[in-house]
Amino acid sequence: MAYTWEPKWEPFKVSVAGMVFTTCRDRVTGLIACPICIHAVSKCLGGSQPPSYQYENSFFFTVDDLISHLKTYHLRGWHRRIEKIASKAREEEE
Ligand SMILES: [Zn+2]
Repeated sequence: MAYTWEPKWEPFKVSVAGMVFTTCRDRVTGLIACPICIHAVSKCLGGSQPPSYQYENSFFFTVDDLISHLKTYHLRGWHRRIEKIASKAREEEE
């Protein structure tokens, strides 16, 4: 027996710790998708699909799980970049 899961995405607004963004949530299971991994803009927000995009399936039961995924998986690179810019700015000030 084949088992397939056909998600019925609907827009889902996340507002936590000063962060506000909209991603997709499955109407049936309640699973919340990572907006970056599944490209929420085209999946459930009516935007167009980019010609080439590295889709990944990342779904979470709670907003907390999604946030920790965003922090560890997507924001780490940004933090490093911001730190680099900040330390460069400090050097120039000295
Ligand atoms: Zn992700």
